[in-house]
Amino acid sequence: MAVATLVVSLLMSGLTFWAVNSIQQDARLNDTRFGRDLGLLLAANVAPMVGENNLTELAQFSSRFYTSTSSIRYMLFADTDGQIYFGIPFSQSEVQSSLTIRRRMQLPENFVANSDLPMVRQHLTPDGEVTDVFVPLNYNGKYMGVLAIGTNPNPTVVTSSHLTRDVTIAVFVSIWVMVILGAVFNALTITKPIKELLFGVKNIAAGNFQQRIDLPLGGELGELILNFNEMAERLESYEEQNIEELTAEKAKLETLVSTIADGAVLLDSNIHVVLANPTARQVFGWESHDDVLGQDVLELLPPPVQAALSQPLHDITKAVPQAERDRDPIEFCVTVPGSTNRTLRLWLTTVLDQSRENVKGIAITVQDITRETELNEAKSQFISNVSHELRTPLFNIKSFIETLHEYGDSLTEEEQHEFLETANRETDRLTRLVNDVLDLSRLESGKRYHFDAVDLLQTVEQTLRTHQLNAKDKEIELIQNVDADLPAVLGNYDLLLQVFNNLLGNALKFTQAGGKVAIFAYLLTPASAHGVPTHVRVEVADTGIGIDCEDQIAVFERFFRVENRVHTLEGTGLGLSIVRNIIEKHQSSVNLVSEVGVGTTFWFDLPLYHSEVPIVKPLPTPADTTVDTASIPS
Ligand code: ADP
Repeated sequence: MAVATLVVSLLMSGLTFWAVNSIQQDARLNDTRFGRDLGLLLAANVAPMVGENNLTELAQFSSRFYTSTSSIRYMLFADTDGQIYFGIPFSQSEVQSSLTIRRRMQLPENFVANSDLPMVRQHLTPDGEVTDVFVPLNYNGKYMGVLAIGTNPNPTVVTSSHLTRDVTIAVFVSIWVMVILGAVFNALTITKPIKELLFGVKNIAAGNFQQRIDLPLGGELGELILNFNEMAERLESYEEQNIEELTAEKAKLETLVSTIADGAVLLDSNIHVVLANPTARQVFGWESHDDVLGQDVLELLPPPVQAALSQPLHDITKAVPQAERDRDPIEFCVTVPGSTNRTLRLWLTTVLDQSRENVKGIAITVQDITRETELNEAKSQFISNVSHELRTPLFNIKSFIETLHEYGDSLTEEEQHEFLETANRETDRLTRLVNDVLDLSRLESGKRYHFDAVDLLQTVEQTLRTHQLNAKDKEIELIQNVDADLPAVLGNYDLLLQVFNNLLGNALKFTQAGGKVAIFAYLLTPASAHGVPTHVRVEVADTGIGIDCEDQIAVFERFFRVENRVHTLEGTGLGLSIVRNIIEKHQSSVNLVSEVGVGTTFWFDLPLYHSEVPIVKPLPTPADTTVDTASIPS
């Protein structure tokens, strides 16, 4: 822009010079012509006076001529030697009196004395340019001297030439002033907003969506700034929305991950822990660690898991081929030794980025399958037990019947009777086993049972009658402790009978000779003093071997038998499962209190028949209502 301005201004200057020069040349030409004509006119008039040496008339004429012609600056008359003898504004007397040294006219070098044409030249004085005209004075063909006239330049032309020059200078200066003002205006109105816009766009590109431009501008730039601010506002709101959505999604995922039953651990690409849900922390025993996040997972895992995972983890984090990355999760089963052997199932899944080229992390999913493994073992044990239980009575029945069939005649009647009784007992045992399996499957099939008033005293007495003989054999004292005026409960007689049979059977089975087994049934005292009792509590207590704390919940599982570990063969592990199912059908739950070597008490609550309260969950166990085996009367 500066260069353009310079070019334009120089062009203007050049034009001005050219114009002024032309004008001056024209003026000079005009002045020359005018001076020459004036000189010739004057010379023609004064030549006779000079020739006749009539200086007075010459002076008068010249003076008149001088005063009537404004453009004449001076008039000088010189003789043939060049001596000035008269001049205006100088007179001869003035010349003579004032000059001690005679004045001579310095004629131009190229002046030709006898020429008819005047000689014209111009020279510059402090008062402006003067045109000097030297006219030879000839009279009657004789050279009489020289007349020199000085004329002023044409004032109009001078003025116009000055005006042109001034205007040009003014134009020149105006161009520069305008250009400078334009540049300043430009800097204020265009450059600054554009710089701000550039800065803003860079900030937006860098993700700073709070960027705004605050410039009060109108026009297209103003509109641009307005649109920029609107765009930034929208981007900011989108970002906020995105962040909100992402936070919500993250919260959802975190909630999901923290609530799933399986353990979940997320690792970054350097196998450092990024996330571990409560289950994983509990499975790997990280609850006591202040913070596992950010630590190398291999340093945190139990040694067997660490041994199993270290190689696969390193393989995943190394550059692996595409096919490797897309493969299914890697699955491991690891047994962690401890107070109880725990079996863990682990899956390793590679987390890839969107392009599926870079490993972003690794997800470890972990399941504690100890119970599953134990149950599977229990099931196998059950099948082996059932087979054994079935085979033993079947074998006994078969052998006794065969003996009877083949040697019946040779046996005494008493022996025959004894053989038949044994076969009958074995058949009962077989039936019991099959019935247990059938009962449980029936209970779990969702069959609806009829509920009615059940007299608990009657049920208990029948149970005790059944087991009386067995108890006597084992020298165990059976105690019945049912409140005499106990109201009827709402239940199914057959099912409750089965519950009592199973519980009493177990109590007798796991109590040594000399021990005691008791059945209690009493009305539960409600919390408020004026409250009406709604439930009856039933307890079956023994002074047997007791159940270890860690097995107390497991005993209700199907096929679970504590004796599986010591392998005693009696029992199927289904009795307590059946009890739990039946009591749950009565909208209640069965509980136990036990101490190894002291005894066990199973207890549950049953709703009263005709109770105004519909069948509801039993009341919470008041500590004082839990009967300890020690309380069994001796
Ligand atoms: P089973 O028919 O084999 O007895 P249950 O389901 O009735 O199976 O009992 C499961 C396990 O609970 C038993 O194997 C035994 O170890 C334990 N158990 C049940 N009742 C008692 C008890 N009164 N005293 C000690 N242990 C018991």
